[in-house]
Order: sequence, then structure tokens, then C-alpha cells
Amino acid sequence: MTDSLPPLRDVIREYDLRAKKSFGQNFLLDLNLTRKIARVPGDISDSVVYEVGPGPGGLTRGLLAEGAKRVVAVEMDPRCLDALADISAAYDGRLTVHQGDALKMDEQELLAAKEGEKMRIASNLPYNVGTMLLIKWLTLDDWKPWFASLTLMFQREVADRIVAQPRTKAYGRLSVLAQWRGKVRIALNVPAAAFTPPPKVASAVIHFEPTEPIDSEVKLKDLELVVEKAFGQRRKMLRASLKALPVDPQKLLAMAEIEETKRAEDVPVADFVRLAKCYGVMKADARP
Ligand code: SAM
Repeated sequence: MTDSLPPLRDVIREYDLRAKKSFGQNFLLDLNLTRKIARVPGDISDSVVYEVGPGPGGLTRGLLAEGAKRVVAVEMDPRCLDALADISAAYDGRLTVHQGDALKMDEQELLAAKEGEKMRIASNLPYNVGTMLLIKWLTLDDWKPWFASLTLMFQREVADRIVAQPRTKAYGRLSVLAQWRGKVRIALNVPAAAFTPPPKVASAVIHFEPTEPIDSEVKLKDLELVVEKAFGQRRKMLRASLKALPVDPQKLLAMAEIEETKRAEDVPVADFVRLAKCYGVMKADARP
């Protein structure tokens, strides 16, 4: 048994939490599955876990049952607050819930972690804002991330793009952004039938742990721009797709020691980082 609380189906009935499409609601009701997801980051007993969109609280209960020191959750749908208050009471106040939009939250302020407490993120994300949130967390200006890990549910197709390797169709902007700054893997595949209501497509949980950046001198903005232009026309050779940059693409590719006939899909993450660094240097040199 996970806890003394009623099964999630009963919670949903009691509080009339019928899933709403507008909130991207697909609930996980199997507490064995949510505990499995909560175990992905490893030992969380020293961690304050940030959860976006707890809904009726399936993953929240999994995280608390697996020993999270505290869980701080942000939920947009006010209908869920009473059910979440019951969880907080059953777990001695280890759960705090804020109502609002996770895209606008200052997570570190909400988490208020004390010395020695790790901060982690674990969420079954609403699909309509999942990618935006991931990009928010991966594009912190100063890459000393406040979180020790991200454990996140995405549609399988998005998860595939995050972990994709060069020379595959799924390899793109999201792969470069994630893999530039950490180690990422698919931790768990989750069939559509595991959700209520079931979405149209399968899902997967990715686990990301930040590492030192490949090159700390590279500016995030430069990398984002170079990658955006390269993949914006992914079928074209780089000497053509990079024409949209305000520098000579052939000179840039020569400086970065990347063959100009390559396509974005063929370029490993480390080479994109070098390309961005050279772009930063050329741009600065070109300034009057
Ligand atoms: N964690 C629950 C589970 O696993 O059963 C619910 C997951 S459901 C896919 C996504 C949840 O995120 C919903 O409860 C929804 O109300 C909430 N949500 C949607 N948009 C949000 C936003 N911008 N900020 C915070 N929560 C949001």
C-alpha cells in the first residue's frame, strides 16, 4: 500500500475532477506506476521536488511515498486544490501547493531549499506547455542550474527528439539544447492506456542531469541562433542554411572546421557548440 488515502478514482469522483482538455489533463491513476516514476531520480530523501501540474495527485503521492523530503507543486486548475490539501495533511505537511501558471513561476523562490537540500523537478507535464517549460529550464543564462535533475513525462515523439543522436530524423534543436548541458535518457516508456483519459499517442519519461557545459565561453543566444538557422532548413547544406546569419557562412564553417557540405542533421552537439563559439568571435570582430 502506498498511503492511507483513497484510490485516485475515488478522489476524482469525490471532488468531481473530470479531466479538462484545456488544462492538458491526462491523469495517472496507478500508484505503482507513479512510484516507479518517482524512483527514477534515485534517492530523493534529501530533495525538495518541484512538481508542475499535480492534478489529483498521483505522481505527488508517488514522490511522497518514495521519501521526498518535501514536494512543492504548482497547479493551474483550482478544482484540484482540495484533493491536494488532503495529501498534504496525510503526509504531515510535506506537500505545499501554489495555484497558478508554472510558466510564470520563480521556482527557486517557491522551493526555498535549505542548505544541504537538493532541488529536483519531477512532473507529468501538461503537453501544451511541456516543451516551453523544458526550454525555460534548459536555457538559464548562467549554467549553474539550481536543479540536480529533471524527470519529465512527454509525448514519446518529443522525448525521442530530446534524446536523439545525429543522423536521425528526430535530431534537432531540442536534442542540441538538452545534450549541450547534460546527460539525458529515456527512463520509462508509458503507454497511452496508462492515462485517464488516454491521449492519442504514447508517452515517455526522460531523465536529465546537468553537467558542466561543453564550453563555458559559448553564449546561449549564439548557440540558439546557429542551431535555429541550421535546422530551419535541415535538408540544405550548412553553407546554404547558415546564409541567414549576419556573417559569411563559408568563413564561419572553415573557422569551426566543419565541412560546408554537411547538413544540420550530421553535426554532433560538440560541433554545434564550436560553431556557436566561432560565430560569437566573428560577430564581435565584425563590429565597427
Ligand atoms: N500530475 C498529474 C498526473 O500525473 O496524474 C496530472 C498530469 S496532467 C498531464 C497535467 C496537469 O498540469 C493538470 O493537472 C493541469 O491542470 C496542470 N496544468 C496545465 N497547465 C498548467 C500550467 N501552465 N501551470 C501549472 N499547471 C498546469
